[in-house]
Amino acid sequence: MKLDLHTHCGEATCVYTPTLDVVKRIVAAARAKGLDGIGITEHYNKAYGFKVKEIVDQHFPGQLLIIPGQEVDKRKLHVVELYLPGDTTFRFVGHPGYPRVEDLTSEIDDTIHGIELRNPTHDDEMDQAAIRKAARKHNLLLLQNSDAHFLSDIGKYYNEISIEELCARAS
Ligand SMILES: [Zn+2]
Repeated sequence: MKLDLHTHCGEATCVYTPTLDVVKRIVAAARAKGLDGIGITEHYNKAYGFKVKEIVDQHFPGQLLIIPGQEVDKRKLHVVELYLPGDTTFRFVGHPGYPRVEDLTSEIDDTIHGIELRNPTHDDEMDQAAIRKAARKHNLLLLQNSDAHFLSDIGKYYNEISIEELCARAS
């Protein structure tokens, strides 16, 4: 599946209580890029993604997989959480290198399952060699996501991955 696992649809639309019209625009933007699904990962806001999922399931069934999530700070890292079927959570580091960390590997613990290798907004700050090293050390899935703050940016980067693979790594 083509999945963009890090998007800020609330910030992109400036509407924090998703309406049918807003959700229609989100679904259209993701489908225009050929995506099968998106993670909806507002900052410190789980409810937004779950509400979007509810509206999609009710009004646009089967058109786009919605994975509710949120983005939170964890020490010096930005961590994106995805709430998966079976009550499990997949966590990955968003744009490692922004904010800057001295030793990426030592910031990561075993609650983390993945890490972004590419992010269109922060590629310049992301040291791919350091990210690959941290990923090897902690057995992390390498990801690339849009981190979209505009609907037109959804799907700028995405992953070819199955939900099963995310679930298998989640805790
Ligand atoms: Zn983000």
